[in-house]
Amino acid sequence: MSIFKKKTKEETSLHEDERADMNIETDSEEVSGKLEDSEEESVPYIKCDSLVRIFKSEGIEVMALQGLDLEIQRGELTAIIGKSGSGKSTLLNMLGALDKPSAGFVAYDGVNIAELSEKELAKFRNDHIGFVWQKNADNLLNYLTVVENVEMPLLFSDMSKKEKHERAMKMLEAVGLAHKEKNFPTQLSGGEQQRVAIATALVNEPELLLMDEPTGAVDRKTSIMLQDLFREINRSLGVTIIIVTHDISLADRVDRVVMISDGKISSERILKEEYKKKIEAGEALLKEGTNEEPDYNATAGTGVASSSDDSHEEFSILDKAGRVRLSAEMREAAGIDSNRVKIDIVDGKIIITNE
Ligand code: ADP
Ligand code: MG
Repeated sequence: MSIFKKKTKEETSLHEDERADMNIETDSEEVSGKLEDSEEESVPYIKCDSLVRIFKSEGIEVMALQGLDLEIQRGELTAIIGKSGSGKSTLLNMLGALDKPSAGFVAYDGVNIAELSEKELAKFRNDHIGFVWQKNADNLLNYLTVVENVEMPLLFSDMSKKEKHERAMKMLEAVGLAHKEKNFPTQLSGGEQQRVAIATALVNEPELLLMDEPTGAVDRKTSIMLQDLFREINRSLGVTIIIVTHDISLADRVDRVVMISDGKISSERILKEEYKKKIEAGEALLKEGTNEEPDYNATAGTGVASSSDDSHEEFSILDKAGRVRLSAEMREAAGIDSNRVKIDIVDGKIIITNE
């Protein structure tokens, strides 16, 4: 199912010059604007290609995203984890079509969203994306009751008052808060407020849920409860979920962990099948951790420091130029202490050693 299902393929397919501009390799059929069904399936749901975002303030340039590449498939539950200032919120704003890249592009189903008009973008966001913001104040209105908050995104829909209420109540049930419908947000705990925010984000039945630090302001127990809720929503409603966070504990409960540092994806981990089944069977994988901010670059490879060690398969990211990042710990463990290394291929494996 395409997010652009209301348009024809002809209308949404990129033109030849646009594809050339974006450096997308195409064959002749795609260029003609008519994708074969089989080819269409290979187009990722979301593609970030060489995303760059430069902020300029008072003569100083900050490069928040430094050529970030990322693909997300429909139905995935992904956590993008990195320390403060690594570019997470900037990336989320790009994914949500709320901000434009300085270079590179974001494509949904092969369509570069920079090609859409402001009106089309607004419609795209409304129809397809639910947001949960980092600050609770950005998610909920304190002068409305819980159920009125959840109904808010339906304000301009064609539904009757009764239908809106029923839909909102269904969402509140999904997050386990139907009994709080008449309360005001200030009468709820932080975790409950987050759950109402999630119900509000889901009420329009979006295909994609984007969340910025959803567990940032809650205690560990509530965080685990919310993480279970993310899984459940992902599984039962089929919503694609992207969470950006510095909360390393999320790494244990999502299918895919992508590490971001200095505005680039540094590595990723995919949850192994056996662990997926364990989580689904309710077997907690989480270990008690400290409240200290973990050292993201602590362990070899991903730097998914305190996260479980054998639940995920670990991958480093090879960028388009063929570069791969070796963390300080990896280099130390391998005794690499200069910026010159020797690369050999032995039995089909690449061996990197000190010069
Ligand atoms: P994170 O969400 O991972 O903490 P951000 O995406 O908010 O990181 O920020 C990445 C970098 O970009 C930081 O150095 C931040 O100071 C800078 N930055 C973000 N937004 C702006 C802005 N509007 N103006 C100037 N600098 C910004
Ligand atoms: Mg942020």
